[in-house]
Amino acid sequence: MLEVADLRAGYKGSDAIRSVSIKVPRGQVVTVLGPNGAGKSTLINSICGLTEVHAGSIYFEGADITRLSAPDIVDLGIVQVPEGRQLFGPLTVDENLRLGFHRLRRSANRTALFKQRLDYVHELFPKLRERTGQRAVTLSGGEQSMVAMGRALMADPKVLLLDEPSIGLAPLIVELLFSVLAKLRDSGLTMLLVEQHAEESLRLAEYGYVMSTGAITAHGAARELLDSPSLHQSYLGESPALSTVGKAS
Ligand code: ATP
Repeated sequence: MLEVADLRAGYKGSDAIRSVSIKVPRGQVVTVLGPNGAGKSTLINSICGLTEVHAGSIYFEGADITRLSAPDIVDLGIVQVPEGRQLFGPLTVDENLRLGFHRLRRSANRTALFKQRLDYVHELFPKLRERTGQRAVTLSGGEQSMVAMGRALMADPKVLLLDEPSIGLAPLIVELLFSVLAKLRDSGLTMLLVEQHAEESLRLAEYGYVMSTGAITAHGAARELLDSPSLHQSYLGESPALSTVGKAS
């Protein structure tokens, strides 16, 4: 459904990622793991039209979207939950969620559709129903994460890109977040998940990529990566064992 081929991208002319190729099949969850600075956000932001692409291509449902603008990419149904959540602090929970619906603004049945999307988000995150009128800036970190995910889901994404949604959250909230991600996976939503919680991500995903210093260093079926005895070291880019699982060329 989504394919990144030999991508080179970065900032002010210099490459932050190079020769990155990944595939995200329809209806599957693919995870990208790697330490800080590996280039995971740059990869996601390149797909969304938010960084300079220096070479390579990005395809969505067979079409080349490499040079499309960020708004056009959202309109196609590629929706991001950005790192750090990026909520509008002075706006209420409801107003932040409404912003996510912008993609569907031209739908013929938008009133019914809006209610359907909002009910769906409230069903996944009942807490957000209670917090409807509360300003985002006053929410806990966990609640803000729920709003960020809810906002993305209001857009009815075809593929959801998540950039470290669990960062900085308490273990119980991380567990809750991953249980919602499992529900989304079971509903058939295609997802590309960048995470630091390697084990939870690999349990959720079908396939995984490991990035280090701007390149894919290993990839394989999530179960194989998970069963690797040296996953932890591998995740930090140090293990010879993991690199034997579908070693990137
Ligand atoms: P983290 O988990 O810390 O977000 P990451 O794997 O997502 O790390 P990136 O944020 O993609 O990594 O960063 C990859 C490289 O690009 C790093 O060397 C980083 O310093 C650099 N970089 C990221 N954003 C910018 C920017 N806006 N301008 C210049 N360099 C940047």
